[in-house]
Amino acid sequence: MIIDSHVHIGELGGFHMKPEHVIHSMEKYGVDYSLVSSGTAVEFDEQHGSLPEDWLYDQYSANLPTVEMARQYDGRIGVAVWCKPHTEGVNARLLRLLDEGGAYIKALKIHPYHSMMPVNAPQMQPYLRLAAERRIPVVVHSAGDEWSQPRYVYEAAKAFPDVTFVMVHMGLCTDNTQAIELIGSLPNLYGDTTWVRPEAALRLVKKYGAEKLLFGSDNPIDGEDTYAHPFYRTYFGAFKEWVTPEEYELIMHGNAERLFGLSISEKST
Ligand SMILES: [Zn+2]
Repeated sequence: MIIDSHVHIGELGGFHMKPEHVIHSMEKYGVDYSLVSSGTAVEFDEQHGSLPEDWLYDQYSANLPTVEMARQYDGRIGVAVWCKPHTEGVNARLLRLLDEGGAYIKALKIHPYHSMMPVNAPQMQPYLRLAAERRIPVVVHSAGDEWSQPRYVYEAAKAFPDVTFVMVHMGLCTDNTQAIELIGSLPNLYGDTTWVRPEAALRLVKKYGAEKLLFGSDNPIDGEDTYAHPFYRTYFGAFKEWVTPEEYELIMHGNAERLFGLSISEKST
């Protein structure tokens, strides 16, 4: 079984990703379940320009398509709610979405780059408290830029020991070394494989255990064949030989099931 813990629909970086793209690619590459967030909720564009007024969706409207997708493809899709700490914060619209999404809501998604705000900033705290109250993990984009530093995710995870944090990308555009050390040093901090060299992911597994790594991809950001990227081909293929069968099962689905509270019936086999 394969669970992809990092999938998108909506607008992101000039891409328009539809639910059908996700479903087709899942079927083509044998992915059983995807945790989906809506790129339409970005607060600033790639160049950190403000978005046009008529494009700025509120947290409810921006995330609602993911809840609708989860309902339509019941049992195959979970929702990571993309938060807007810069322009909104925890408000009635967000709580309404969480209520309507019910059991489909599996995580909160924080994107420090697109919010121009580190995850350990004071304005993020209401979201992290909400995650603690509702017992849902927080998945956080991490990279080398000034807002997305891995150490900010570490600091947030340290301040909220009851919340599970996934450090997505393990420091995009870095050699992942710092991210791996930080992930290894807190029990509630995990890494994912999204655009992470398989050799770097293996270092995390060998040093701190397979329990610390989740499979994720950013599908379908490069189209329906995002999984054909050499990194993902390796995770689906050769990586199996690099770790034990037990470790492989944890990385590809077991950790996601445990951390996001999923129970998924396998279609194939
Ligand atoms: Zn992403």
